Amino acid sequence: MVSISFLGGCREVGRSAILIESKSGAKCILDYGIRFKNENRLPYDTNLSNLKAVALTHSHIDHSGALPFLYKTYEGPFFTNPVSLAIVEVLIRDMIKISDFPYPFGFRELEKVKQNANFLKNKVRYKIKDNFFITFINAGHIPGSVSILIEVDNKKILYSGDINTQLTNLINPANSLDIPELDALIIESTYSLKEHPDRDQLEKNFVEKTTDITENGGSVLIPAFGVARSQEALLILDKYNYPGKIFLDGLARKVSKVYLDYPESIRSQGIFKNALKKTKFVIRRKGRNIAKNSVGVIITPSGMLKGGAAIEYIQTILTDPSSAVYLVGYQVEGSPGRGLLDNGIFEFSERGLKKHTIDNIKIRAKCEYDYFDFSSHADNLHLYDYIDNLNFYDNSNDIFCVHGDNRSTTSFASELVKKGYNSVAPEIGEVYKV
Ligand SMILES: [Zn+2]
Ligand SMILES: [Zn+2]
Repeated sequence: MVSISFLGGCREVGRSAILIESKSGAKCILDYGIRFKNENRLPYDTNLSNLKAVALTHSHIDHSGALPFLYKTYEGPFFTNPVSLAIVEVLIRDMIKISDFPYPFGFRELEKVKQNANFLKNKVRYKIKDNFFITFINAGHIPGSVSILIEVDNKKILYSGDINTQLTNLINPANSLDIPELDALIIESTYSLKEHPDRDQLEKNFVEKTTDITENGGSVLIPAFGVARSQEALLILDKYNYPGKIFLDGLARKVSKVYLDYPESIRSQGIFKNALKKTKFVIRRKGRNIAKNSVGVIITPSGMLKGGAAIEYIQTILTDPSSAVYLVGYQVEGSPGRGLLDNGIFEFSERGLKKHTIDNIKIRAKCEYDYFDFSSHADNLHLYDYIDNLNFYDNSNDIFCVHGDNRSTTSFASELVKKGYNSVAPEIGEVYKV
């Protein structure tokens, strides 16, 4: 029997971590992320003796953020790909630098993560140990993202990681046809209860509204995650020939440069290069002042207005009735972005930041504000489609629903039970045998 221990990402989005153990006791960890609330930010504490490998689905911090902690004691290989490693370094450095939380690791351990990195190509089976293999398969979520197929003691287990089966402008989608017959599936549930709007219509609407604002002399602030979402917003504006100026600020600049260095991780380097050529990279305070005083679009983290360069622009934009704030990512309950969408009031507290640049602010928006759901996760229809297209061996169709809030994971599992699967939403620390 193979054991699967769920160390995080159980009935929550955050600290994704899964431990696979073979009959002989050899162990492999898939993802080792962090969560940003409460005191328990790391995955569930468990015995990691005989750990033979660590493998990463993608660079987002909820999957990668606690990797340095493993390297306090572990010295074995870390399987990833070049673009994920480069982004992991950018994100973890930033996380350690700006946080007041006393993470039990630092730059030294991050260095060890890098030193032990082994790059895997997609669809190439790699042997970790006798009768223990891993294979990366494109997951379509962000550049470099993969699902991981584990073959251990003649069982096949697929961990989806975060997946998107729909084509975006930045990357190619996941395809369940790439996946062999399975014994078990561990799948994300983020949007298992939600349907995304029609993407083409949404993109056109977004560019039309943006163009209207800037042609009438206003500016559009697009708070977006620096990893992938900022670049996707840029590509959408380019695709529909947005005529005005575009500024890119904060972490989004650094990440864009990394994507250019790894053209195999994106759909078209040519199109991306071209879009970046028309974009002004905001450098230092001088550049920011130019962006602030120009008419155009400013794309900058953070995506939920929790901090980052977006805070530098937002006061000017919110008080200008001719401007707009267009949010392009999920806004978690309690975030300043969610507050703006729900109540028209932007509230920001600098608590938790080491570098104080501005005081606490509370502003009622005079400008327009809206939300465009440019998600990079499969929604409910596409999650069920993905599962329907998979093949399971007779009498073994276990599906574990992870990476979603309590309702999304548990109702996803009960729906799958109704469809004849053997499905659960595991709780943290639980161990299952397949
Ligand atoms: Zn992700
Ligand atoms: Zn995630």
